[in-house]
Amino acid sequence: QVKAVGNGLAFFDAEMQLQASRRLLLAHELREAISNDQFELYFQPQLVHPGVVTGAEALLRWRHPTRGILGPYEFIDFAEESGLILLIGELVLRKACQQLALWQRQAGTSRLELSVNISARQFQQPDFTALVIEILQQSGVDATSLKLELTESMLVDNFEQVVAKMQQLRALGIRFALDDFGTGYSSLVYLKRLPLYQLKIDRGFVDELVQDDNQQAIVRTIIMLGQTLGLEVLAEGVETEAQLKSLLQLGCYHYQGYYFARPLPHSEFEHFLRQHHAG
Ligand code: C2E
Ligand code: CA
Ligand code: CA
Ligand code: CA
Repeated sequence: QVKAVGNGLAFFDAEMQLQASRRLLLAHELREAISNDQFELYFQPQLVHPGVVTGAEALLRWRHPTRGILGPYEFIDFAEESGLILLIGELVLRKACQQLALWQRQAGTSRLELSVNISARQFQQPDFTALVIEILQQSGVDATSLKLELTESMLVDNFEQVVAKMQQLRALGIRFALDDFGTGYSSLVYLKRLPLYQLKIDRGFVDELVQDDNQQAIVRTIIMLGQTLGLEVLAEGVETEAQLKSLLQLGCYHYQGYYFARPLPHSEFEHFLRQHHAG
């Protein structure tokens, strides 16, 4: 807040100055993190009933020089506001495709699917498709195992352009998941026109699935909607056996969550795979 003083001059209060300097520091540190390769991807297994690993979602982590491993909530909003998300998002896509290409060349991991989160600003870049093509070529990855996770809110503006861009990428073999489904604006009309492959039921619905009949009704509706549109439906944030059981009863057979595994560094993910049946 800018406070007006008696003579009409305005000044920042101490709190605001502190915030501004924190943001400057974060901007500086994020640039350092990009140039010093401090970002890493963790991989959370995605499974299909009865427990076959189909692939993973890549989740960003920042190996901060003094603060340890930081999750996206510590920096992703700021990265989005400051535009640094474009550089970070590119780096995520490169790392994800490199990892996927490695898996594709190894027995036991060759058919894994990898899901990558794409931010609104990143997807809206006019040259996003060109960037993806360049990264696919450079990594030599088979794009049919790559999934991009978009959120509802980023699909609403410039709908026709969004559809066209998704179709271009789809033609390369890339598939799309709609993330956090049920939390944003969603109209059946537009959902039907998007070249989607998967709906991800938001963790918030899964959370209260067991105790709350309303949540159950919502989840049932989402699952039916997905089935009607011919989409795969995956529940995220599954933490308990009871949640898994309700999901299966409601007809949702794809899932991910702490009940199976947390996001893991790639070596631990590969270890997890060896102990589970890979699809
Ligand atoms: P999201 O895409 O909805 O990812 C799922 C989040 O839920 C992850 O948090 C994951 O660790 C967490 N999670 C998974 N299973 C469970 C569970 O059973 N219980 C609970 N309580 N949480 C679970 P994370 O890794 O902290 O990521 C947070 C958000 O940051 C993501 O939400 C996504 O929106 C964003 N994000 C992560 N990586 C990237 C990235 O590479 N690029 C962009 N643009 N955004 C990213
Ligand atoms: Ca996601
Ligand atoms: Ca999600
Ligand atoms: Ca989320």
